[in-house]
Amino acid sequence: MKTNNNTPVDVLIVGDGIAGRLAALAVQREGGSVLIIDKCSPKAPHGNTAFSGGAFRRVSKQYPEKKYFADIMKVSEGQADPRLTRTTIRNSQNAIASLSRLGVRWTLPSSNPARAVSVLGRGPALVAALNDAVKKANIPILYSTRASDILISDGRPSGIKAQTRTGVRTIPSKAIILATGGFQANREMVVRHLGKGAHRLVLRGYKEDTGDGLTLATKIGATLVGMDGYHGGIIHYGYKKHPRIGQIKGMRSVKRYEPAILVNREGKRFVDEGEDTADKTYAKFGRIIALTQPGGIAYLIFDSTAKDIIDPMYEGPGKEPIESMTIQGLAEKLSIDRLRLRRTIERFNAAVSRGRTSGITPPKTHFAQRIEKPPFYAHIVTGGMTFTFGGIRINEKAEVLSNTKKPIPGVYAAGEVTGGFFYHNYPAGSSLTRCAVFGEIAGQNAARYARKTS
Ligand SMILES: Cc1cc2nc3c(=O)[nH]c(=O)nc-3n(C[C@H](O)[C@H](O)[C@H](O)COP(=O)(O)OP(=O)(O)OC[C@H]3O[C@@H](n4cnc5c(N)ncnc54)[C@H](O)[C@@H]3O)c2cc1C
Repeated sequence: MKTNNNTPVDVLIVGDGIAGRLAALAVQREGGSVLIIDKCSPKAPHGNTAFSGGAFRRVSKQYPEKKYFADIMKVSEGQADPRLTRTTIRNSQNAIASLSRLGVRWTLPSSNPARAVSVLGRGPALVAALNDAVKKANIPILYSTRASDILISDGRPSGIKAQTRTGVRTIPSKAIILATGGFQANREMVVRHLGKGAHRLVLRGYKEDTGDGLTLATKIGATLVGMDGYHGGIIHYGYKKHPRIGQIKGMRSVKRYEPAILVNREGKRFVDEGEDTADKTYAKFGRIIALTQPGGIAYLIFDSTAKDIIDPMYEGPGKEPIESMTIQGLAEKLSIDRLRLRRTIERFNAAVSRGRTSGITPPKTHFAQRIEKPPFYAHIVTGGMTFTFGGIRINEKAEVLSNTKKPIPGVYAAGEVTGGFFYHNYPAGSSLTRCAVFGEIAGQNAARYARKTS
């Protein structure tokens, strides 16, 4: 093993996604020296950050802290860590302002304009702005360098052991930040933690987020939390047939489907499509479709009144909805039993009153409108795998916690590698916000720790 006896850097950051890069900038602002390592090659788009849609959920006049907090608690069924949630929410506007100072430009997303802003140019533009900022700050990045162990001596970090193209080396540092993303691309971990079948979901983003940070952290006594949750996302079936279409930009999920109903291959409805707005149901519906419905697919069915609202967010072959002047004709094109589909829609239409249904199971509790005005349409949809919710337990200072919930000195984590934020379901745009907020916090605190120990 080659050992470098050079002076330790104050903070070594593993992973150059949004969390890692914002952490690095924060270390430098605190006056610390910093180095980023990443296992990938700089040339290929990497990290889920590059594949993301760029939506950041943030506090606004129409979307106060209280409502944001209530949304996270509602979708997580009260399990989200309240301190991590509050920290994310309270710093959400500052995170947007910091990114604006780095040159990020914004637009309003169509699905939840009051609650989020979106990066103009999506993930690729976000990565370009972060690249420029890190370059301008002269922060070094070592690519093709995979961290394999955190080195600890006298109860504090002394560096990282890493695999490089030329062999194994150690890189000394006083503090460490793990920003290695989730484990969604690790088949073995996905099956172990999320259950059988989850590995069949179509991976929407980066193929190398394999949970390395979780392994590195547990080897030094860190705890993992919320490991069985993940973000599914309803995606157009075309992505499954033509996955290359999403390879560079990320596979986009259908987020505006409120006027439609979801029907399976047997012609039956299976969820309350109107449980909430689509930005608060798409993550879990994708999972339900892929893992519980026959063939792992479903049909979004709607009529001509909703044609301009429903956007499949897909640009490949077969992006146009399947169309017919009659429900039976649509059923034939979808290979669903004609009578079953007709009966399902007749029952649904008869149950609709004032935007909700009564007397049918499952109900549609909001946004219910009759499907009665031809032509009738369908998009075939399935579930994607966006990112895993579980990860390293941290506190609001981004310190990595041991199984006694005590901070492991000098070791921090930020972004998708951390757990405690999301359970069961997910309000759109909250992950990038927590990555940005906690990247910054991790950088600040790691730099201060390194200074204290010098
Ligand atoms: C299609 C898609 C759309 C999305 N859209 C949104 C959205 O609009 N809004 C939102 O809030 N969220 C969105 N997300 C989620 C969001 O993109 C991620 O949560 C976020 O980008 C994660 O950032 P990160 O910095 O934690 O990790 P990443 O960006 O994944 O970066 C992790 C980095 O760590 C490196 N790494 C891993 N292991 C090692 C190792 N052992 N040694 C060295 N380096 C290592 C990887 O190579 C990678 O570059 C989306 C995700 C996808 C896939």
